[in-house]
Amino acid sequence: MYEHDVIVVGAGGAGLRAAIEAHEHGADVALVTKLHPVRSHTGAAEGGINAALHPEDSWELHAYDTMKGSDYLGDAPAVDAFAQAAPEEVIQLEHWGMPFSREEDGTVSQRPFGGLSHPRTTYAGAETGHHLLHTMYEQVVKRGIEVYDEWFVTRLAVTDEPDPGERTCYGVVAIEIATGEIGGFYARNGVILATGGLGEVFDHTTNAIACTGDGPAMAFRAGAPMEDMEFVQFHPTSLPSTGVLISEGVRGEGGILYNGNEERFMFESGYANNEGELASRDVVSRAELTEINEGRGIEDEYVHLDMRHLGEERVVDRLENILHLAEDFEGVDGLEEPMPVKPGQHYQMGGTEVDEYGHSCIEGLYAVGEAACYSLHGANRLGGNALPELMVFGARAGRHAAGAVESEAEIPTGPTAKTEAGELDSPVDLGAVDAASPVATDGGELATPEEVLEAAIEAERERVETLRSREGVNHADVRNMVQRTMTQNVNVFREESNLKQALRDLREARELYQEVGIRDPSRTYNTDLIHTIETRNVIDCAEAITAGALAREEFRGAHWRKQYQSRDDENWLKHTLYAWNDGEPALYYKPVILEGQEQTYEPKVRSY
Ligand SMILES: Cc1cc2nc3c(=O)[nH]c(=O)nc-3n(C[C@H](O)[C@H](O)[C@H](O)COP(=O)(O)OP(=O)(O)OC[C@H]3O[C@@H](n4cnc5c(N)ncnc54)[C@H](O)[C@@H]3O)c2cc1C
Repeated sequence: MYEHDVIVVGAGGAGLRAAIEAHEHGADVALVTKLHPVRSHTGAAEGGINAALHPEDSWELHAYDTMKGSDYLGDAPAVDAFAQAAPEEVIQLEHWGMPFSREEDGTVSQRPFGGLSHPRTTYAGAETGHHLLHTMYEQVVKRGIEVYDEWFVTRLAVTDEPDPGERTCYGVVAIEIATGEIGGFYARNGVILATGGLGEVFDHTTNAIACTGDGPAMAFRAGAPMEDMEFVQFHPTSLPSTGVLISEGVRGEGGILYNGNEERFMFESGYANNEGELASRDVVSRAELTEINEGRGIEDEYVHLDMRHLGEERVVDRLENILHLAEDFEGVDGLEEPMPVKPGQHYQMGGTEVDEYGHSCIEGLYAVGEAACYSLHGANRLGGNALPELMVFGARAGRHAAGAVESEAEIPTGPTAKTEAGELDSPVDLGAVDAASPVATDGGELATPEEVLEAAIEAERERVETLRSREGVNHADVRNMVQRTMTQNVNVFREESNLKQALRDLREARELYQEVGIRDPSRTYNTDLIHTIETRNVIDCAEAITAGALAREEFRGAHWRKQYQSRDDENWLKHTLYAWNDGEPALYYKPVILEGQEQTYEPKVRSY
C-alpha cells in the first residue's frame, strides 16, 4: 500500500495545479494518473486562458460575463473567487515560463472570445493547453512530486455511513496498467479527483478517448452527488469526420461562418445581431444546426468557417496549428478554402458537487477541473474559462487539502443542501441493475482507514476477477449503444420523447453490461479491462445527464427543450443534484447563490 498526505487523481491541468499547491503548503503529495501527465487532454486546449489583465478590464467584468454566460446558474462565491484569482494564476504561469504570445511591445497578447465584454483571452499560439501542461509538469518534476503514472483508479475507499455527509474518503484503489497489479493508495489528508471530461458519452466529441467521466462516476457511487449534469456544451466548430476541434480563436481573430448559400447567417438570419460569430457557444451551435436542419447546410451536415481573409501572415503567426488540423484531418488547406465545421460535444459543465474549495460532501474527497461542479459555468461555459478554472480551483483545493485554509465555504453540499425533491417521469427504472453487485457499490463497512482501504482493494480484486472469468458481451457494443442514443436523443436539441427513449436505451445498456466480459487474458497493458471498467462510468454519467435533462422543463444555456422555449427563473433557478442513495439514484435540487462580493447578479435576458 502506498501512503501520502494528499492523493491527486489525474495529472491534467487541474491535477498538476492542485499537486503543486498542496506541495507548496508542506503536504506530501502524489499524482496518480492513467495517462502520462503530458498526454492529458488539457494538452488539446487551443484557444486560450481568460484573465482580466488589462487596466481597462476588471475582475468584476469578468465575473459578470461568466455569470451572464452561465445563464445565471453559476454560484457567486465560485464565480467571484475565480475572476479575482485568474490574473495572478496567469502571471504565475508566465513566471514559470509559459511562452505566451506577445504584442510588438512585449506585452502578453489578449484576444476576443465568445461572450466576453473585453478581449481577455491570453494564449500561446493555438497550442495554449500544450504549453500550460508542459509548464506545470516542469514544476512538478522540479519539486520532486511523486507521479504514479499509468495507474488507473477504479474505486474510492470511502466509509459507508447511511448519510453521505458523514462519510470519509481514505484513499483510492488503482490498477497499474503495466503489470495488472491492484494497489491501494492511502491519503492521510484527502483525495482530489481531477479526472477531466466525459466526451466518450457521445459519439461526436472533441474529447479524447480517455475522457470517460471516471471521477464523477466513482464519487457518485461513493455518495457525492453529480450536479447540473444536463448542461453539456457542444462546440460549434468541430471537424465533421473526427470531432477534432477548430479553436474559437479562429472566430476570435475574425473567422466567419457561412451556410450553404454563402450567407453569413449569424448576422443575416438574426441569431446574434451584435456579436455574430462570437456569440456564446450554445447560441452558435444552435444556429448552425438550425441552418443545417432547414436545408441551408452543406451536404446536410456542416457549415463553413472561413479564415482566408485574415491573410497568411496572421494565420501562421496566431493559428498555425489550425492549418495543420484542417489539413491532416479533413484534407483542407485553410489558407485556400473554408473549413467544414459542425457542433460536437466539447465540455461538461456539471460534475461532482463541490464547494468553492473543491470539497465534496464526503470528508477528504475533493474534485477539481472538468470533473467538478462548483458551480462556475452554470448552464453554459464561456470559451477560455476552463483553463483559468483549473488553475484557480486546482490551487484552492490543493491548499485546502494541505490544511492551509481556515475559512468556511459558502456553497453547501450533500444532503443538507437539499431544498426540494425532484420529480422524474422515467419510463424505466434507473440506476444499477443489481445494486448489490460489486460493480455498483463502493466503500467498506469497517472503521479504521486501513480497514476501509483493504475492503475496497478486496472488492476491486473480486470485481476484476469476475470480469475476467466471463466470456461475455464486448464492452465496445455497450459503449456504442450509449454513444448512439446520447448523440441521437440528448444532443443540442432535446425533446421529451427522445429523452425518454435515451433512458430506455441506457437501461438496456446497463442490462447488457451485466454480461460484459474481458476477452484479453493478459495482465499487462490490458486495454480491454480498462475500457470495460470505464464503460460503467460512461453509463452512469449518461444517465445523470439524461435524467437531469428530462426533469428540467425550461430552456437555459446549453439545455434546450422543444416544449419549453424560455428560461423559467420562477421554477428552475436551481441546481440539479443526482445522488446515489440506498442503492438507487435520487434527484433533488438546491438554490443558486447570486449574492456576490460586489454585486448581486440579477438574472437578465441573455442576448449577444
Ligand atoms: C479540444 C479542446 C480544446 C479546448 N480548448 C480550451 C481553451 O482554449 N481554453 C479553455 O479554457 N478550455 C479549453 N478546453 C477545455 C479544457 O481544456 C478542459 O476542460 C481542461 O483542460 C480539463 O482539464 P482537467 O485537468 O480537468 O482534465 P484533463 O486534462 O483531461 O486531465 C484528466 C487527467 O485525469 C486522468 N484520469 C482520468 N481518469 C482517471 C482514472 N480513472 N485514474 C487515474 N487517472 C485518471 C488522466 O490521465 C488525466 O491525467 C478545451 C477542451 C478541448 C476538448
